[in-house]
Amino acid sequence: MPYVHYLNCRNPKCMKPILLPHPKHPDTQPNQAEYPTVDWKKFFLCLECKQVNEYSDKNVLMEMRDMPHPLERDEYLCWSIRYNCDEENCGTRIETFAVADDSVAAETMLDIFLCQPLSVLRLCPRGHWARMPQHPKDFDVIPCVFPC
Ligand SMILES: [Zn+2]
Ligand SMILES: [Zn+2]
Repeated sequence: MPYVHYLNCRNPKCMKPILLPHPKHPDTQPNQAEYPTVDWKKFFLCLECKQVNEYSDKNVLMEMRDMPHPLERDEYLCWSIRYNCDEENCGTRIETFAVADDSVAAETMLDIFLCQPLSVLRLCPRGHWARMPQHPKDFDVIPCVFPC
């Protein structure tokens, strides 16, 4: 039976589902799916409300569907939006993920990401509160595999 994995956007005013790409092997049974395990924590961008929130394995939901949803396509791509920590001599990558169908270009993805207030601070993996860069050229937006 077809099934989908999704997150519900954590913005209380939005709560739209963020559909996750299908696992690599479409035949995989749900209980064997290559989906997040314990202690999984990632930041995702919601393309609906343009908010970035942190999600954990407990936020990943699965739903059985009799029929694939019309908006559901196999071509869902995962993107990684990255910049480096601005703490001196750190430069550790700070990463946010987004999922979109293949009509969304990297530039569009960055435009949506940059709707966040610049004052947003993110904790770098080495423990610094990092600001977002001022210039779009300081971001990398690249297609990636789903970060299991
Ligand atoms: Zn949202
Ligand atoms: Zn840092």
